[in-house]
Amino acid sequence: MSDRAPLGVFGGTFDPVHVAHLRLAEEAREALGLARVRWLPAGLPWHRDALRTAPEHRLAMVQAAVAGNPAFEVDAREALAHAPGYTVDTLAALRAELGDELPLVLILGADAFARLHTWHRWRALFGLTHIGLATRAGQAVDASALQPALAAELQARSRDAAHLRTAPAGAIVRFDMTPLAVSATDIRARLARGESGRYLLPDAVLEYIRRHRLY
Ligand code: ATP
Repeated sequence: MSDRAPLGVFGGTFDPVHVAHLRLAEEAREALGLARVRWLPAGLPWHRDALRTAPEHRLAMVQAAVAGNPAFEVDAREALAHAPGYTVDTLAALRAELGDELPLVLILGADAFARLHTWHRWRALFGLTHIGLATRAGQAVDASALQPALAAELQARSRDAAHLRTAPAGAIVRFDMTPLAVSATDIRARLARGESGRYLLPDAVLEYIRRHRLY
Protein backbone atom coordinates (compact mmCIF):
# COMPACT_ATOMS: atom_id res chain seq x y z
CA MET A 1 0.00 0.00 0.00
CA SER A 2 1.42 3.36 -0.96
CA ASP A 3 1.34 6.35 1.36
CA ARG A 4 2.50 9.31 -0.66
CA ALA A 5 0.96 12.71 -1.23
CA PRO A 6 -0.61 12.54 -4.69
CA LEU A 7 0.36 14.58 -7.72
CA GLY A 8 -2.50 16.59 -9.21
CA VAL A 9 -2.84 16.77 -12.99
CA PHE A 10 -4.86 19.67 -14.36
CA GLY A 11 -5.61 19.76 -18.08
CA GLY A 12 -7.50 22.35 -20.07
CA THR A 13 -7.39 24.49 -23.15
CA PHE A 14 -6.61 27.57 -21.03
CA ASP A 15 -7.58 29.95 -23.84
CA PRO A 16 -6.80 32.01 -21.79
CA VAL A 17 -6.01 30.78 -18.26
CA HIS A 18 -8.04 32.73 -15.66
CA VAL A 19 -8.68 33.10 -11.93
CA ALA A 20 -11.22 30.25 -11.73
CA HIS A 21 -8.56 27.85 -13.10
CA LEU A 22 -6.10 29.12 -10.49
CA ARG A 23 -8.61 28.76 -7.65
CA LEU A 24 -9.61 25.29 -8.90
CA ALA A 25 -5.97 24.14 -8.79
CA GLU A 26 -5.32 25.80 -5.43
CA GLU A 27 -8.49 24.48 -3.77
CA ALA A 28 -7.86 20.99 -5.20
CA ARG A 29 -4.32 21.05 -3.79
CA GLU A 30 -5.60 21.98 -0.36
CA ALA A 31 -8.72 19.81 -0.21
CA LEU A 32 -7.11 16.71 -1.71
CA GLY A 33 -3.72 16.96 0.01
CA LEU A 34 -1.82 17.14 -3.27
CA ALA A 35 1.97 17.54 -3.13
CA ARG A 36 1.91 19.57 -6.32
CA VAL A 37 -0.33 20.36 -9.28
CA ARG A 38 0.99 19.74 -12.79
CA TRP A 39 -0.77 21.94 -15.35
CA LEU A 40 -1.20 20.36 -18.75
CA PRO A 41 -2.29 22.79 -21.49
CA ALA A 42 -3.95 20.92 -24.34
CA GLY A 43 -2.32 20.71 -27.74
CA LEU A 44 -3.87 20.88 -31.17
CA PRO A 45 -7.58 20.00 -31.23
CA TRP A 46 -8.85 16.92 -33.07
CA HIS A 47 -11.37 19.01 -34.93
CA ARG A 48 -10.12 21.89 -37.02
CA ASP A 49 -10.76 24.96 -34.95
CA ALA A 50 -9.54 28.13 -36.60
CA LEU A 51 -10.58 30.18 -33.59
CA ARG A 52 -8.39 28.36 -31.10
CA THR A 53 -5.28 30.23 -29.97
CA ALA A 54 -1.98 28.50 -30.86
CA PRO A 55 -0.81 25.97 -28.25
CA GLU A 56 2.48 27.85 -27.77
CA HIS A 57 0.57 30.97 -26.66
CA ARG A 58 -1.78 29.03 -24.35
CA LEU A 59 1.26 27.31 -22.84
CA ALA A 60 3.10 30.60 -22.31
CA MET A 61 0.03 32.13 -20.62
CA VAL A 62 -0.18 29.20 -18.19
CA GLN A 63 3.55 29.53 -17.46
CA ALA A 64 3.07 33.23 -16.72
CA ALA A 65 0.04 32.54 -14.51
CA VAL A 66 1.65 29.92 -12.27
CA ALA A 67 5.14 31.46 -12.03
CA GLY A 68 5.99 32.05 -8.39
CA ASN A 69 3.82 29.25 -7.00
CA PRO A 70 6.22 26.45 -6.02
CA ALA A 71 3.36 23.94 -5.79
CA PHE A 72 2.42 24.47 -9.44
CA GLU A 73 4.38 23.14 -12.41
CA VAL A 74 3.69 23.14 -16.15
CA ASP A 75 3.93 20.13 -18.43
CA ALA A 76 4.42 21.24 -22.05
CA ARG A 77 4.17 17.84 -23.73
CA GLU A 78 0.64 18.18 -25.13
CA ALA A 79 1.02 21.82 -26.09
CA LEU A 80 4.27 21.18 -27.95
CA ALA A 81 3.21 17.91 -29.61
CA HIS A 82 2.86 18.23 -33.35
CA ALA A 83 -0.33 16.18 -33.48
CA PRO A 84 -3.51 16.02 -31.40
CA GLY A 85 -3.44 13.59 -28.49
CA TYR A 86 -5.68 11.88 -25.99
CA THR A 87 -5.60 12.45 -22.22
CA VAL A 88 -5.50 8.70 -21.61
CA ASP A 89 -2.25 8.43 -23.59
CA THR A 90 -0.69 11.39 -21.79
CA LEU A 91 -1.57 9.84 -18.43
CA ALA A 92 -0.12 6.50 -19.52
CA ALA A 93 3.12 8.30 -20.44
CA LEU A 94 3.14 10.08 -17.06
CA ARG A 95 2.50 6.79 -15.30
CA ALA A 96 5.42 5.18 -17.12
CA GLU A 97 7.70 8.03 -16.02
CA LEU A 98 6.53 8.30 -12.42
CA GLY A 99 6.11 4.58 -11.68
CA ASP A 100 3.13 2.49 -10.62
CA GLU A 101 2.92 3.62 -6.99
CA LEU A 102 2.55 7.40 -7.02
CA PRO A 103 -1.11 8.46 -6.66
CA LEU A 104 -2.21 10.72 -9.51
CA VAL A 105 -5.34 12.87 -9.33
CA LEU A 106 -6.86 14.29 -12.51
CA ILE A 107 -8.59 17.53 -11.52
CA LEU A 108 -11.88 18.22 -13.32
CA GLY A 109 -14.52 20.90 -13.05
CA ALA A 110 -18.10 19.61 -12.92
CA ASP A 111 -18.75 20.53 -16.57
CA ALA A 112 -15.68 18.63 -17.75
CA PHE A 113 -16.61 15.62 -15.59
CA ALA A 114 -20.11 15.51 -17.08
CA ARG A 115 -18.54 14.93 -20.51
CA LEU A 116 -16.01 12.32 -19.37
CA HIS A 117 -17.89 9.44 -21.03
CA THR A 118 -17.18 11.08 -24.43
CA TRP A 119 -13.39 10.91 -23.92
CA HIS A 120 -11.31 8.35 -25.81
CA ARG A 121 -11.04 5.13 -23.71
CA TRP A 122 -12.46 6.97 -20.71
CA ARG A 123 -12.78 3.90 -18.52
CA ALA A 124 -9.04 3.22 -18.90
CA LEU A 125 -8.46 6.51 -17.05
CA PHE A 126 -9.46 4.86 -13.78
CA GLY A 127 -6.55 2.41 -14.08
CA LEU A 128 -4.14 5.33 -14.38
CA THR A 129 -5.43 8.08 -12.11
CA HIS A 130 -7.90 9.13 -9.45
CA ILE A 131 -10.29 11.94 -10.29
CA GLY A 132 -10.77 15.06 -8.18
CA LEU A 133 -14.19 16.47 -9.01
CA ALA A 134 -14.84 20.10 -8.11
CA THR A 135 -18.41 20.68 -7.07
CA ARG A 136 -20.19 23.88 -6.23
CA ALA A 137 -20.04 24.62 -2.53
CA GLY A 138 -23.01 23.01 -0.81
CA GLN A 139 -24.42 21.38 -3.95
CA ALA A 140 -24.57 17.65 -4.52
CA VAL A 141 -23.65 16.31 -7.96
CA ASP A 142 -26.90 15.51 -9.77
CA ALA A 143 -26.16 11.93 -10.80
CA SER A 144 -29.49 11.70 -12.64
CA ALA A 145 -28.22 14.32 -15.09
CA LEU A 146 -25.11 12.26 -15.92
CA GLN A 147 -24.86 9.65 -18.65
CA PRO A 148 -25.82 6.34 -16.90
CA ALA A 149 -22.44 4.59 -17.25
CA LEU A 150 -20.69 7.67 -15.88
CA ALA A 151 -23.18 7.97 -13.01
CA ALA A 152 -22.52 4.31 -12.17
CA GLU A 153 -18.75 4.90 -12.06
CA LEU A 154 -19.27 7.95 -9.85
CA GLN A 155 -21.36 5.95 -7.43
CA ALA A 156 -19.03 2.94 -7.32
CA ARG A 157 -15.78 4.92 -7.10
CA SER A 158 -16.66 7.75 -4.67
CA ARG A 159 -14.22 7.95 -1.76
CA ASP A 160 -13.01 10.64 0.62
CA ALA A 161 -9.76 12.54 0.23
CA ALA A 162 -7.86 10.41 2.76
CA HIS A 163 -8.21 7.45 0.39
CA LEU A 164 -6.13 9.13 -2.32
CA ARG A 165 -2.79 8.47 -0.59
CA THR A 166 -3.52 4.79 -0.18
CA ALA A 167 -3.89 3.78 -3.83
CA PRO A 168 -2.34 5.03 -7.07
CA ALA A 169 -5.59 5.31 -9.05
CA GLY A 170 -9.26 4.43 -9.34
CA ALA A 171 -11.22 6.68 -6.96
CA ILE A 172 -13.40 9.74 -7.53
CA VAL A 173 -13.20 12.34 -4.76
CA ARG A 174 -15.50 15.32 -4.74
CA PHE A 175 -14.42 18.61 -3.19
CA ASP A 176 -16.19 21.92 -2.80
CA MET A 177 -14.87 24.79 -4.82
CA THR A 178 -15.67 28.47 -4.32
CA PRO A 179 -18.23 29.20 -7.07
CA LEU A 180 -16.65 31.51 -9.66
CA ALA A 181 -18.66 32.10 -12.83
CA VAL A 182 -15.58 33.07 -14.85
CA SER A 183 -15.08 31.50 -18.27
CA ALA A 184 -12.49 31.81 -21.00
CA THR A 185 -15.31 32.22 -23.54
CA ASP A 186 -16.57 35.32 -21.71
CA ILE A 187 -13.04 36.72 -21.35
CA ARG A 188 -12.32 36.28 -25.06
CA ALA A 189 -15.56 38.10 -25.90
CA ARG A 190 -14.76 40.97 -23.52
CA LEU A 191 -11.26 41.42 -24.91
CA ALA A 192 -12.57 41.24 -28.49
CA ARG A 193 -14.93 44.11 -27.64
CA GLY A 194 -12.00 46.10 -26.29
CA GLU A 195 -13.23 45.79 -22.69
CA SER A 196 -11.09 45.25 -19.61
CA GLY A 197 -10.13 41.77 -18.47
CA ARG A 198 -8.43 43.06 -15.35
CA TYR A 199 -8.98 40.97 -12.17
CA LEU A 200 -10.44 38.10 -14.21
CA LEU A 201 -6.97 36.86 -15.05
CA PRO A 202 -3.47 37.57 -13.74
CA ASP A 203 -1.82 40.83 -14.83
CA ALA A 204 1.10 38.85 -16.32
CA VAL A 205 -1.33 36.99 -18.59
CA LEU A 206 -3.05 40.21 -19.64
CA GLU A 207 0.34 41.68 -20.43
CA TYR A 208 1.19 38.63 -22.57
CA ILE A 209 -2.13 38.97 -24.42
CA ARG A 210 -1.46 42.64 -25.06
CA ARG A 211 2.09 42.07 -26.28
CA HIS A 212 1.05 39.32 -28.69
CA ARG A 213 -2.23 40.92 -29.73
CA LEU A 214 -4.30 37.84 -28.90
CA TYR A 215 -8.11 37.83 -28.98
P1 ATP B 1 -14.03 27.88 -22.38
O1 ATP B 1 -14.90 29.00 -21.87
O2 ATP B 1 -13.14 28.27 -23.54
O3 ATP B 1 -14.79 26.59 -22.61
P2 ATP B 1 -13.03 27.35 -19.68
O4 ATP B 1 -12.88 28.64 -18.99
O5 ATP B 1 -14.19 26.46 -19.32
O6 ATP B 1 -12.94 27.56 -21.25
P3 ATP B 1 -11.10 25.16 -19.91
O7 ATP B 1 -9.68 25.33 -20.27
O8 ATP B 1 -11.99 24.51 -20.91
O9 ATP B 1 -11.64 26.60 -19.46
O10 ATP B 1 -11.24 24.41 -18.52
C1 ATP B 1 -10.23 23.67 -17.89
C2 ATP B 1 -10.79 23.07 -16.62
O11 ATP B 1 -11.19 24.13 -15.73
C3 ATP B 1 -12.05 22.19 -16.82
O12 ATP B 1 -11.92 21.07 -15.95
C4 ATP B 1 -13.18 23.10 -16.39
O13 ATP B 1 -14.25 22.34 -15.85
C5 ATP B 1 -12.53 23.94 -15.31
N1 ATP B 1 -13.13 25.26 -15.15
C6 ATP B 1 -13.13 26.27 -16.04
N2 ATP B 1 -13.79 27.34 -15.58
C7 ATP B 1 -14.24 27.01 -14.34
C8 ATP B 1 -15.00 27.68 -13.33
N3 ATP B 1 -15.44 28.94 -13.50
N4 ATP B 1 -15.29 27.01 -12.18
C9 ATP B 1 -14.85 25.74 -12.00
N5 ATP B 1 -14.12 25.05 -12.90
C10 ATP B 1 -13.83 25.67 -14.07
